[in-house]
Amino acid sequence: MTDYRFPYKDASFLINDLLDFDGMCEEAGLEEVNGELASAILEEAARLGSEVFAPLNEVGDKKGAALEEDGVHETPGFADAYRQYADNGWAALNASEAYGGQAMPRVLGAATTEIWYSACAALSLCPLLTTGAVEALEAHGSEELKDAYLPDMVSGNWTASMCLTEPQAGSDLAAVACKAVPEGDHYLLSGQKIYITWGDHQMTENIIHMVLARLPDAPAGVKGISLFLVPKFLPDENGRPGKRNDVYCVSLEHKLGIHGSPTCTLNFGDNGGAVAYLVGKPNQGLMAMFTMMNEARQGVGIQGLGVAERSYQQAAAFARERLQGTRSDGSRYPIIEFPDVRRMLMIMRSATEAMRGLAYMAGVESDRAHYATDPERLQKHVARIGLYTPIVKGWLTELAQEVTYLGIQVHGGMGYIEETGSAQFYRDARIMTIYEGTNGIQALDLAGRKTLGDNGAALQVLLDDIRASAKALSSVDSLAAMGSALGNALDEARDARAWLLEHGSRDRSAAGAASFNFMMLMGYLCGGWVMAQAALKAQQMLDTGAGDVSFLKAKLITARFYFEHLLPRTGACLAATMAGSESMMALDAEQF
Ligand SMILES: Cc1cc2nc3c(=O)[nH]c(=O)nc-3n(C[C@H](O)[C@H](O)[C@H](O)COP(=O)(O)OP(=O)(O)OC[C@H]3O[C@@H](n4cnc5c(N)ncnc54)[C@H](O)[C@@H]3O)c2cc1C
Repeated sequence: MTDYRFPYKDASFLINDLLDFDGMCEEAGLEEVNGELASAILEEAARLGSEVFAPLNEVGDKKGAALEEDGVHETPGFADAYRQYADNGWAALNASEAYGGQAMPRVLGAATTEIWYSACAALSLCPLLTTGAVEALEAHGSEELKDAYLPDMVSGNWTASMCLTEPQAGSDLAAVACKAVPEGDHYLLSGQKIYITWGDHQMTENIIHMVLARLPDAPAGVKGISLFLVPKFLPDENGRPGKRNDVYCVSLEHKLGIHGSPTCTLNFGDNGGAVAYLVGKPNQGLMAMFTMMNEARQGVGIQGLGVAERSYQQAAAFARERLQGTRSDGSRYPIIEFPDVRRMLMIMRSATEAMRGLAYMAGVESDRAHYATDPERLQKHVARIGLYTPIVKGWLTELAQEVTYLGIQVHGGMGYIEETGSAQFYRDARIMTIYEGTNGIQALDLAGRKTLGDNGAALQVLLDDIRASAKALSSVDSLAAMGSALGNALDEARDARAWLLEHGSRDRSAAGAASFNFMMLMGYLCGGWVMAQAALKAQQMLDTGAGDVSFLKAKLITARFYFEHLLPRTGACLAATMAGSESMMALDAEQF
């Protein structure tokens, strides 16, 4: 496996030049935060990522977590790396100052998250879930719970898990059956949760489980689900981990990838009931959990970006070295000179750059929402985040499959052999389209709640914003072809929106059949939008002699490649979107 280097120039260009980090901080009144600080933060994170996390990636793949008598033991080396992560304040980067956080803008959280996932996805899953739990607890927990748990969660002293899934309740959370009965000032929770990421380990002195369960009198379905906080160890009178709570890992899953991330079956209440505390209002747990899931969904998209970037770096390094061509004078040359290998590397690179652009753009949107004081602007940012979340989760993780697939292909036979590390990226990426809501569910969210739900209003605002960029591109001679390609893709998105609004509202299976292709169309379009803005900015900087010429010229080339090779996929997505559900649903179930 090659070393990992964070693509610092691209990240810095996006954050500082394209997304106007300084302007955003100024507008938000963040006096001490600026581009210089952002660069220092990224450099420090990149150092920890490449020097400490990255060497553990392969270690975790070879020796995953193990269940022993006293619980789950993580991969050797993970605890020390995690401690460095927490001690250096990375767990607290985005958390609010009230609980010891640094309250840094979220776009920096997006960029550092990319670093952790490129470096070691299996280990980095642990803090991702803690960040989401902190958000949910801060938004919905009582003051007492927040004071008791948030400081240690924010500092990274304690980690968290997210416990939704049960054997009969995966995508369909209406079937959640875990129960919580009142007992004095708390509840006693019982039942089983499966597939719980980092549900147990020895890295920290406590683990806080955020658990969906039902109260005795709860209505059926999703309207009867409540959210509970269940600590592994109950805090004693000094707030330190005391008595062991009744929650135990009873087995670990054997799985395709992310071997270093323990995937636990957790039994709650086998010995009388796990002490649990209600978070938020009774029967409104799903809403509270959504705070956590939205954060985590964008985080999973960034996982896809991180693994894609690492896979690209590995493939590019291999392609520069692997000799397979012979010149007429008998000298040999590397595979990077073959157009078909270039095709693969350029898809990997331009897709990854577009993914990064979109992920960071979504991060800035979260910041703008967070700092907005004007209710109208807040509403606009919230609606935009609503659209971005399923696209970032769905499109980025789908592209991560293609990028890591190509990463293997570039290696030829060596890609299929484990020792290059390329196969690990492919295996690790595979889960990302599945957890945190499968991509099928993300697509339904985008087409249903986010588009049909407001009669396409928020989507129309997004398309209008993209239209303005297409016009700006068309007015620059060297970028006019990109402008017209973006305009075509926009027309396709407009047609898809119109089709969905016309057919989706009266025929559920039409929306269900169209949703995945609709999400992919929107992903390619938004990726094209960010690449278009990047090209425009790069051209402006080149014209004014600002910035790194070689980087800016390369950005123009990757943007052009994206427009020529990836953006045209919107046409196929539109055709499939508008094909409807007839042929999809025509065979009887028995005919499969
Ligand atoms: C490694 C790993 C880690 C995980 N970590 C966690 C964790 O930390 N916490 C946690 O709570 N869970 C976790 N999960 C569970 C994960 O979130 C679920 O696997 C996922 O939500 C899908 O649920 P399911 O497996 O039951 O699949 P199902 O819901 O049975 O889905 C099977 C297929 O049917 C499709 N489908 C289902 N319902 C619909 C629908 N309404 N419309 C269209 N298509 C549909 C799905 O898209 C999928 O393709 C993890 C899973 C794995 C494998």
